[in-house]
Amino acid sequence: MNRAEEIKKRRTFAIISHPDAGKTTITEQLLKFGGAIREAGTVKARKTGNFAKSDWMDIEKERGISVTSSVMQFDYAGKRVNILDTPGHEDFSEDTYRTLMAVDAAVMVIDSAKGIEAQTKKLFQVVKRRGIPVFTFINKLDRDGREPLDLLSELEDILGIASVPMNWPIGMGKNFQGLYDFYNKRIEVYQPENGERFIEFDENGEIDASHPLTNNPFYAQAMEDAELLLDAGNEFDEKKVLAGQLTPVFFGSALTDFGVETFLNTFLAYAPEPNGHKTVEGEIIDPLREEFSGFVFKIQANMDIRHRDRIAFVRIVSGEFERGMGVKLLRTGKQVKLSNVTQFMAESRENVENAVAGDIIGVYDTGTYQVGDTLTTGKLKTPFEPLPTFTPELFMRVTAKNVMKQKSFQKGIEQLVQEGAIQLYKTYTTGEIMLGAVGQLQFEVFKHRMENEYNSEIIMTPLGSKTVRWIKPEDLDEKMSSSRNILARDRFDHPLFLFENDFAMRWFKDKYPDVELMEQFSV
Ligand code: GDP
Repeated sequence: MNRAEEIKKRRTFAIISHPDAGKTTITEQLLKFGGAIREAGTVKARKTGNFAKSDWMDIEKERGISVTSSVMQFDYAGKRVNILDTPGHEDFSEDTYRTLMAVDAAVMVIDSAKGIEAQTKKLFQVVKRRGIPVFTFINKLDRDGREPLDLLSELEDILGIASVPMNWPIGMGKNFQGLYDFYNKRIEVYQPENGERFIEFDENGEIDASHPLTNNPFYAQAMEDAELLLDAGNEFDEKKVLAGQLTPVFFGSALTDFGVETFLNTFLAYAPEPNGHKTVEGEIIDPLREEFSGFVFKIQANMDIRHRDRIAFVRIVSGEFERGMGVKLLRTGKQVKLSNVTQFMAESRENVENAVAGDIIGVYDTGTYQVGDTLTTGKLKTPFEPLPTFTPELFMRVTAKNVMKQKSFQKGIEQLVQEGAIQLYKTYTTGEIMLGAVGQLQFEVFKHRMENEYNSEIIMTPLGSKTVRWIKPEDLDEKMSSSRNILARDRFDHPLFLFENDFAMRWFKDKYPDVELMEQFSV
């Protein structure tokens, strides 16, 4: 197979959801179809591995596995599928958001009893900004959940995305009979008595009247809903799906492996091939271009605590990776050799021989790379657009435990902030250090790495949640600062306020109506 064909086979996506919606369960089912794991349970092992926040020994033990399951690759139906993990729970961090910069599509898993939950909403917003396609799987139909029509309106009302159902549940919970499959023009029967899983429609879009299901009241209800949807609902429109304006919705039950394969087949029929990626000059680098290029979207630290080693995750944008190849790191202009590189399979990390645009490789790193770095060979001279920064919501004040060890403290902070592990702020006048993160685990990883990699014990004092707003340098007036709105600067010296809450922010706006508060710094 030539390189272009290889690249066109790639389908790279992330699954987003709120914790407990069923992301792990569905991932395992997908891996099973891909033959990547023999039995479901492998992905689960990581999750139930007692990932206690405070117990770093456990995290150390789990680390190998957690890196492995960051990217899962398998072959299915002529495609090479890369699933990128977006951790939930305590692992939620800026990395979770940045991973969404490295995928070409997203699958959103929703618990049918809960509808759209907080974390799904946050992740969806990042996906929406990118304009990549989103496919929705509404899970746990084997349990009683909310009305399917309500769930569809929630997609529109809460997320602001139009939806088109690809199939429709016939009953739910104890009364779950199966799926009315608009797309494949058949009924998919849940726990069929006679073993007949699929019943094809006749030319009228119905099944044979002699089938016992036709006497089921839930079947009649589903037919009614279906008619309504076909009349008044959105039509499937591939262009809109690919532009992220319309989400195809699938129903199912991941736990009982019902509807997952149907979902996978349809998803893979429409999920896009690898996208090009924009440089800072606005040029789109096509995946089929000859020269290798890629960008670092995540750095995972501490494979071995005795060394400062880490893995830099690189999304290949164009060309092909070959073992030992020399590439240029555009930020420093230096040549680096990609020799110690891993690719990810569900069960093990394997040394990769070659990988192409769309794939993810893990480059062994001793402190060379930063999140957002561009790697290229050949003629590509401009870096890719910087990754967006995600406004932190949680804050800590941080000091060195041992005042004599200021040097290692400063060095550790500088390097970890540069790497993209955490956000740094300093109070404007006194220069006290505050750290910002999107998830609690980011602080704990930071503390752990300061101690282990920089030999610097630190004291962290929680400042709770804050809202960050930047101001224009010309508006700066130290008198505007108070304990409820801390005046600070970010690592680029841009001035900002950390507001205690929305109330404090409104109060500020009333008092200083001429001061513009910005969600991102711009002059
Ligand atoms: P994650 O946090 O999103 O990865 O969710 P998990 O896959 O770990 O699922 C959370 C819980 O929901 C587990 O107890 C699963 O067994 C259960 N679960 C997942 N899918 C289904 C489903 O389709 N039906 C039912 N009844 N339970 C499910």
